[in-house]
Parts: sequence; structure tokens; C-alpha cells
Amino acid sequence: MLQSALLTAKRVVVKVGSALVTNDGRGLDYEAIALWAKQIAQLQKQAKEVVLVSSGAVAEGVLRLGWEKRPTRLSALQAAAAVGQMGLVQAYETQFSKHGIGTAQILLTHADLTDRERYLNAKETLLELLRLGVVPIINENDTVVTDEIKVGDNDTLGALVANLVQADALVILTDQKGLYTADPRKDPEAKFVPEATAGDPILETMAGGAASTLSKGGMITKILAAKRAARSGATTIIASGREPDVLVRMGGGEHIGTQLISRHAPLHAREKWIVDQLRSKGRVVLDAGATDALLKQKTSLLPVGVKAVEGEFVRGEVIGCFNESGQEIARGLTNYSSSEIRLIKGRHTNELAAFVGYEGHPELIHRDNLVIMA
Ligand code: GLU
Repeated sequence: MLQSALLTAKRVVVKVGSALVTNDGRGLDYEAIALWAKQIAQLQKQAKEVVLVSSGAVAEGVLRLGWEKRPTRLSALQAAAAVGQMGLVQAYETQFSKHGIGTAQILLTHADLTDRERYLNAKETLLELLRLGVVPIINENDTVVTDEIKVGDNDTLGALVANLVQADALVILTDQKGLYTADPRKDPEAKFVPEATAGDPILETMAGGAASTLSKGGMITKILAAKRAARSGATTIIASGREPDVLVRMGGGEHIGTQLISRHAPLHAREKWIVDQLRSKGRVVLDAGATDALLKQKTSLLPVGVKAVEGEFVRGEVIGCFNESGQEIARGLTNYSSSEIRLIKGRHTNELAAFVGYEGHPELIHRDNLVIMA
């Protein structure tokens, strides 16, 4: 019999989606919020640390502002998020305080997680809150982000947070039971998937692209979030937030929903930060020899193996390493800027200084700063 990964998980990130939090857009579901708070209080009694990622700010804000539907204009969406976030944290604070548990509002942006210092600060704060027994309530800081610089959906944010705090499990509570082999509303043959390996490409085909009008994510963002969280060793569970006592039952070992197991050995802290960069400023394309050396021997990347460079970046930024068929095989911190790489690509180590004008590193990316993505 399958067992829930929540049984042995010590640190857990729970993400709840907009449809659940706002009662399908009818307004904050105080009863549901009360029940999750109660369940999280029970998980804490079992010595588990819980971080909550909650959506619903925009949906609640739209309602509070008396608008009929979710606006498309960015500033209107941002205004709605700011208004709705008030209701959201108020509701959580009220419900958790009934169990003697404090809450903390944390609003994050992609930039906070890209900048290494801010990333480490966010991590330290979250770990401190967990030590204090406080439940951090996280959302994206929608008010200050635009489409280009956004994490975009809270499934992805949940995975980033799971990696940030080195969680053992990411629980995504949604209004569906979990993953099916096809869309069950359209395909009578669709079968439920109780367990699979996170990152298995077949899952992306199964999940399709269905998103709701209330929130940003569909099943596909959950599958991709599981893949992301698995890189640092976290198992993801996608389950219905309407299932009675879902968190407590899973905490007791009962298997509910779809469990996507991580088969990765956990990454080191710096490697985790490297893979969690959602957008890199540039990329290098490697020849077959360098691709092979990276994948098979995990060597450092030398300029001689680089065929092309795209984008503009400076030394110390995270860049992608692609093979000639366009697949990202690795990612790492570059020792040279894009303009320098244009001068030294394909060149041997002893020629580099003559082109860049100083005695730099022999490696373009040192193996310690390189993470294999393939
Ligand atoms: N941050 C958005 C909100 O609170 C939610 C994004 C999402 O639904 O994934 O409304």
C-alpha cells in the first residue's frame, strides 16, 4: 500500500490555490481557512514545520472592489492584489491565533530569489520564523512585479520556497483530486495517477494546459513545480483541499492525491540557488565534446568547448549551457562576461589572456558552480 510522503516529512510547504481560498471567487472561504489552520496546528504538534503559500489576493481584491471580473490591466490587477492581500492575511492570522499560533506575512518577488544576498536573507528569516513556531504566509509581491519579472504562479513560487527552506515535501492543495492521465472532464478513459516520478516527461503530456479563470496555474504548472522541487529532494503531493482533514490524514501516512517522488539526491545550497533562477540573461552553446565532458565526467566548462554565445551578461551571473540541439544541459555561474566570451569562444586556455587583457580563470564555469540540468 502506498504511504504518504508527509508521514516522514519534517519541513513542509503547503500551497493553497485561489479557487479554494476564495470559494471559487465568491469571497474568502473562512471556514476552509479555519480548517487548514486547525490541520496545520496538528501537524505542528507532530513536530512538523509548515510554511504556507497562499494565492487568492487578486481574486479577493476583485470582489472587495466590487468588480465583476478579473481585470487584464496590470495596474488594476496590482491594485486588486494589494486590497485582497489584506483580507487574506487577516483571515489566516485570525484562524491561526485560535490555536495559539502566530503568522507572518512574507511577500516575495523573483528578484528577491535571484539576488544571492536577498535569497539568503529570505531563507534565514523563514528559518527563524520556523524556529519560533510561527507559520509564514507567503505570496508573490504582485504590486511591484510586471509580467516580465514575475514568478507568475504560486505553484512555481511554492516550489521555489520549498527549495529555499529545504523542505521535505511540497503539498499543493487544489480543487481537483490530483493528476489524471488525461482531462477527466473530456476523456472518459482518463485514469487517476496515484504516484509517479517527478520530472518524468510523460506527466507534462498528461497535464495538458488547463488553467482556471481565477488563478494562474493549471495542472501543468503543478507538474513543473514538482519537477523543480524534486531537484532539491522534495516530494510533491497534489491533492484536493476539500478532502476532509487532508493534511492531518497525510501526516499520519494515508496516501491521498497524486504523489510525485523526487529521485534526485538533494543539491547543495548554492546549486539550488543556481537551478532556481527562472530566467537567465544568456546562454552558451557547446560543441559535442564539451557536452559529453560535462554530462559524463562533470568537468568544468572551458572556453574551447563553446561554439556560440547569446544574450548580454556580466561575470558572476547565471547562464545556461545548451547542446547543439537546443537542450539545456547545465547551468552555472560564469567567470566571463558575454562580450569576453565572444572573444574567447573556441580558444585554448593559454590564449585567453591575450584576448581578454588580463590573467583570468582557465574555466568559463568552474565545476563547483555548475549544475547538470539534463
Ligand atoms: N499571487 C496571486 C494571488 O494571490 C496568485 C497567483 C496564482 O494563482 O498562482 O492572487
